[in-house]
Amino acid sequence: MSLRLITPQWSCPDNVVAYTSTRKGGVSLGDFEGLNVGAHVGDNLSLVETNRQQLPHSEKIVWLEQVHGNRVVNLPTLHLKADASYSNSKAYFCAVMTADCVPVLLCDTKGTEVAAVHAGWKGLDNQIILHAIEQFDCKPCNIMAWIGPAICAKCYEVDAKVAGVFKNYTGAVSPGPEPEKFLLDLPLIAALQLTQAGVGSITQSHLCTYCQNELFYSHRRATHQNKKSTGRIVSVIGLL
Ligand SMILES: [Zn+2]
Repeated sequence: MSLRLITPQWSCPDNVVAYTSTRKGGVSLGDFEGLNVGAHVGDNLSLVETNRQQLPHSEKIVWLEQVHGNRVVNLPTLHLKADASYSNSKAYFCAVMTADCVPVLLCDTKGTEVAAVHAGWKGLDNQIILHAIEQFDCKPCNIMAWIGPAICAKCYEVDAKVAGVFKNYTGAVSPGPEPEKFLLDLPLIAALQLTQAGVGSITQSHLCTYCQNELFYSHRRATHQNKKSTGRIVSVIGLL
């Protein structure tokens, strides 16, 4: 099966490379079947390495050790425990792995700076998107953002505690299928935060990792299927 990548439908500068991988085209097996790029999820590491090497510009990708925090690192760095990276060098591409959390890719309109952000509900609550924007030399109005494949509002049920964290985000929380359960719209929260930060252009992929199970890994779906683990896709951005 051949590699299948998703490319953002945005009008970024020509020298900006951006894509999100899917499950299609990889060599992983079982619960990880397809192009799993997560080396921390229990998959066979040599298969993960084979998968990673298939990605465009793989030799430039800097892989983070994501911890659901709000630290943004400037590439190159030795501090890989982070959930977002920033680069203004052609030698280092930013990348974040996800399986339901929101990947956000950022670039400036001149094509000189890029960043990738991993934002689950904790990262969103801790303003990781704003921290990433603060790394840019340009003004926020000259930043473009793409919100990649993530779990959609219909598929993401949360408890009252998590819903309460986002009660001030208009439209982000809706009633769930049973009392004390709520549906949370993570991609919308990301968009609202980008807007509030003054980002000039925001594009939503409108792709759901849970709904489109054949294309993506979904942590929530794996949990529902009583599976211990699942794979990760990666969202990459870099400068040529
Ligand atoms: Zn969905």
